Amino acid sequence: MKELRNYIAGAWQSPVKNQWLDNPEPATGKVYSRLPDSTAEDVQMAVDAAKKAFPIWSAMSVEERSHIMLAIAQEMKLSFESLAEAESKDQGKPIHLSKVMDIPRAIQNIEFFATEILHMASESHGTKGVLNYTVHAPIGIVGCISPWNLPLYLFTWKIAPALATGNCVIAKPSELTPLTATMFAELCMKAGLPPGVLNILHGNGKNVGSAIVEHPDIRAISFTGGTVTGEHIASKAAPMFKKLSLELGGKNPSIIFADCDMQEVVQQAVRSAFTNQGEICLCGSRILIEDSVYEVFRDAFIQKVKQLNIGDPFEDGTNLGALVSKSHWEKVLSYIQLAKEEGGTILCGGSPVHPQGRCQDGWFIEPTVIEGLGNDCRTNQEEIFGPVVTLQRFSSEEEAIALANGTKYGLAANVWTQHLAKAHRIAHALDFGIVWINCWLIRDLRTPFGGMKDSGVGREGGFEALRFFTETKNVCVKF
Ligand code: NAD
Repeated sequence: MKELRNYIAGAWQSPVKNQWLDNPEPATGKVYSRLPDSTAEDVQMAVDAAKKAFPIWSAMSVEERSHIMLAIAQEMKLSFESLAEAESKDQGKPIHLSKVMDIPRAIQNIEFFATEILHMASESHGTKGVLNYTVHAPIGIVGCISPWNLPLYLFTWKIAPALATGNCVIAKPSELTPLTATMFAELCMKAGLPPGVLNILHGNGKNVGSAIVEHPDIRAISFTGGTVTGEHIASKAAPMFKKLSLELGGKNPSIIFADCDMQEVVQQAVRSAFTNQGEICLCGSRILIEDSVYEVFRDAFIQKVKQLNIGDPFEDGTNLGALVSKSHWEKVLSYIQLAKEEGGTILCGGSPVHPQGRCQDGWFIEPTVIEGLGNDCRTNQEEIFGPVVTLQRFSSEEEAIALANGTKYGLAANVWTQHLAKAHRIAHALDFGIVWINCWLIRDLRTPFGGMKDSGVGREGGFEALRFFTETKNVCVKF
């Protein structure tokens, strides 16, 4: 059995308390590795290492830091196949998805921030006899905590801007998907990242996650995960006046108008609903359809959903793999049960799947489509984060906007219409941090990324991320 270790001060370390967690493969339900169940003692070791490394890393020129980060990206490219395989084994997603989305994007994250930092400029404001200039200095030691749905993709999305701006990082991947972060540590060693600049600690949120959030020398926390966890983290970190970036849950609407390109919409709605088993914070899980095309859309959508293949993530042609854990699988099934109790009609799916062969004990669920529920019921209000979507009707722009905005979340919306003015009108009326018009999940890493309302605080991406990981200081000179 594989034994994963913490990466502290540039070396592998077993957890101080010698406590371990099992790591099962979602597609088989079988434990295949174990990982440290780290504690505050391990966090202290990582902080000590980061303190030693900070004067060296922060004093390097941006070109030197950029050079090392690009060497890490190069190592990732050389390990592309093994990273993709590890991600699918650990998370349950189809290998095809790891190869076209997760690993390419993780590499792009490192390359993007390694080069963006070269273009970050200070602002200056002059007036008669006075010059103000604003510098963005590294914060020091920062904490990055990431979830299990896009493991290496979101892990690197946080640590890349943190490192590029000269910080030393204590990072914690999800305890459910520790494998690619561990492989990443090895690639950092090969690429010559100085010891202590990045420290990776494994374990659950309660122990090591809390210890990172509460350590007084870790001055900023960048967190992606559930809204309830985000609330808890904020309650601990805010009174310590830490900088906080919270990327949280969503309940995203896909809004389909009668004047859309129906063929394209059906295809993209399936993608938006079920990519990564619906385990993407940006997935459209509430599909809102204009009355006059409701039946046309519904029937075409169901037909396409029924064609999706569920099964072994490593088999060619698999569209949906396994859900990440037994408890998450049970949670998603409980929401399907809830939808029935709330009066919903299951149009397709709704059941667990037990594929023949090695995956018979894995955590699979059919892609599930439900209609007949009002917007206020729990099924339409709570994040399910699995292969489950609901269909609702609307009869006017105003009603579409009211339904879309009618949740506590505000992460992402997608809108489908050929009417240019209507598209802009709707985009402006939606309370969501990201609005896609006639597309879904097109990402330009320079753009601000994040949610409104209970979907988070702050924005990632582009210069927003570089600013988050720096302290801003204004210098005013009279001459
Ligand atoms: P989670 O909140 O359970 O865990 C996320 C991370 O936080 C994990 O590493 C976990 O160990 C850690 N953690 C848990 N409790 C902690 C605590 N008390 N202190 C410190 N760390 C703690 O979320 P999850 O189940 O891993 O991920 C799914 C959630 O993430 C969904 O709600 C999804 O919408 C959200 N998500 C949001 C985005 C976004 O960009 N907005 C992206 C991906 C996922």
